Amino acid sequence: MAQRTEALFRDDAYLKTADAQVVAINDRGGILLDRTIFYATSGGQPGDTGLLERADGSRIAIAATITGETKDEIIHVPTPEQALPSVGEKLRLNIDWQRRHLLMRMHAACHLLTVVCPFPITGAAVAEDDSRVDFDIPDAGFTKEDVTARLMELVRADHPIFTRLITEEELSANPGLVKSKNVRPPVGTGRIRLVCIGENASVDSQPCGGTHVKSTGEVGEIHIGKIEKKGRENRRFRIRFGPMPTN
Ligand SMILES: [Zn+2]
Repeated sequence: MAQRTEALFRDDAYLKTADAQVVAINDRGGILLDRTIFYATSGGQPGDTGLLERADGSRIAIAATITGETKDEIIHVPTPEQALPSVGEKLRLNIDWQRRHLLMRMHAACHLLTVVCPFPITGAAVAEDDSRVDFDIPDAGFTKEDVTARLMELVRADHPIFTRLITEEELSANPGLVKSKNVRPPVGTGRIRLVCIGENASVDSQPCGGTHVKSTGEVGEIHIGKIEKKGRENRRFRIRFGPMPTN
């Protein structure tokens, strides 16, 4: 039966440590906890890595975090050949914060890109040093210099980024909130989590379950490394950290 893990990162993406209890070890050695700060791979954002610290001080390295039978079941995948904890054992959780913070900055940058390029999204992948968002755009008409300049305007404005829960009815009354062409937010859960940018969401809001930095200023300097043509009506934008190379 699927477990329901309390996802602490949904309310506070800045938790670096927390305490939790082991509720199950699955048949592949994956560790299930009652609560976690480890984000599980989904929505284009990779899952967290980190350490689970046992009472005796020994550590279990976590190589990946994934969802199980349902999105609410979060599985911590240890690196091979480690002693596994027992059910009921209490652990101190530590995520690789440096990596997660890069992913939070990049994920927020992807949202900013969808503000600058308001077209249907056909795919996205967040990574620590290079993220991509694919758009359904028949004609590019964009240069990486222009898009970078507009992204950096949003970064410099230091808009707040926050989440808000809405009902499924509110979402169906505002279909424009959904920017993904193929992916619809999950229905049947009653509440949809919106990620909002700007005072009163004046810059943007869209359904998303990922982790983001708390302001656009925290994204820091980014640029568009490349705009690639992927098929007749698809453009892939690659976001990278740092200033745009000058040559
Ligand atoms: Zn997001």
